[in-house]
Amino acid sequence: MMYSYEELKAFVNSCTKCPLSQTRNKPVMGRGSLKPQILFVAEAPGNSEDRDGIPFTGRSGKILDELLKHVGLSREEIYLTNVVKCHPPNNRDPRPEEQEACIPYLKYETYLLKPKIIVCLGRIAAQRIISPGYRISREHGTFLYRKDTWLTAVYHPSAILRDPVKMEETKQDFERIVEKLF
Ligand code: SF4
Repeated sequence: MMYSYEELKAFVNSCTKCPLSQTRNKPVMGRGSLKPQILFVAEAPGNSEDRDGIPFTGRSGKILDELLKHVGLSREEIYLTNVVKCHPPNNRDPRPEEQEACIPYLKYETYLLKPKIIVCLGRIAAQRIISPGYRISREHGTFLYRKDTWLTAVYHPSAILRDPVKMEETKQDFERIVEKLF
């Protein structure tokens, strides 16, 4: 069965497939261009995203916007989503069974959007999408080509908030990501 993007969004917005549906305020469907060259995937919505129903609206979103601006991109040109679409209580990591329940939505988003590059934001997304043993501090900014798509990972913007030294390295990773578009 094939579904449209709007149908997928409706499924997410009414989903009760895992226990996060009981504690969330709003599911947070991905957002951005529906023909993006770059798909960014983080682990889960945070507090402000849970309130607004929009990805990356909080302080991490400001960091992400700064990184996008650094390479001349805007949110309208890219697509932003999460491995799990509902906010885990107290910002804990999404549990494996929650990721398992939610991952079909991300797979279908990827299938519909057909990005050239998938950028994992942080360890959890990278371990889910690239490989279970992924080590973000060693491997960020490196690329892998799988199923006609470039895969890479960068530090999560919240890690940059905690340790601003990571900003420079991440800007360089973003420069490498943009180079892959040409
Ligand atoms: S996290 Fe995903 S699977 Fe769980 S309720 Fe939300 S949308 Fe459904």
